[in-house]
Amino acid sequence: MNLILLGPPGAGKGTQAKLFEERHGLKQLSTGEMLRAAVAAGTETGRKAKAIMDRGELVPDEVVVGIIADRLGQPDVKKGFILDGFPRNTAQAEALDKMLAGKGLKLHAVIEMKVDDEALVERITGRYTCAACGKGYHDRFEMPKVSGVCDACGGTQFTRRADDNEKTVRDRLTVYNNQTAPLVAYYGGRGTLKTIDGMAEIGEVTRQIEAVLKGL
Ligand code: ADP
Ligand code: ADP
Ligand code: ZN
Repeated sequence: MNLILLGPPGAGKGTQAKLFEERHGLKQLSTGEMLRAAVAAGTETGRKAKAIMDRGELVPDEVVVGIIADRLGQPDVKKGFILDGFPRNTAQAEALDKMLAGKGLKLHAVIEMKVDDEALVERITGRYTCAACGKGYHDRFEMPKVSGVCDACGGTQFTRRADDNEKTVRDRLTVYNNQTAPLVAYYGGRGTLKTIDGMAEIGEVTRQIEAVLKGL
């Protein structure tokens, strides 16, 4: 199964992609995570991307299209993949169509996660991640069972993203509404689009996605 999770920053794409990776062996392909890894490693791509990401703007299409083209060529995506944070504009969606056609791959569904802007700001400003395994948490909505200890790996170090502050979040939402939201019409026209209520609690969102996958 090859899926796109489409939704604004903080919609819950990463949270759900990681759950489906565990449950169904689908590979999460998050361009945001790959770019942050490049920034942390100090590669040339990372150095170029950092300032753009800190401003909440989109890094150039050729950079992210190149990253995804590489990943789709690797064997671990054979069981299926979940694109999280890509494509983010029409040019990227067109490039993805070409890549998939070239590799004989099908896109089974584009799942749009709808969440109100104010809820997004609250989700993003409270978001943090286990430094060891990358599991996501939230100050109010998803706390570790034992305070300060990661449920998944026992790690005790956590990180917050530089761009997860209120000012940058508002700029990222504007970028989403202007550049990414048109993809709803792009995919809606082909019948691959399924819209779910991302305002529901995490487990309920998972159930909605499961229901979509069963119906495919
Ligand atoms: P995205 O990948 O779409 O930017 P995340 O999956 O990182 O979003 O979720 C953003 C924050 O909101 C995280 O801290 C996460 O724990 C929390 N979160 C995710 N889904 C929900 C939900 N359905 N209800 C409440 N909080 C959520
Ligand atoms: P979120 O889902 O919380 O918005 P991501 O982790 O997907 O965050 O992305 C973080 C940042 O990385 C974006 O604000 C943008 O600068 C960059 N980025 C990620 N994916 C893309 C993409 N497909 N195209 C351009 N820039 C991207
Ligand atoms: Zn962990």
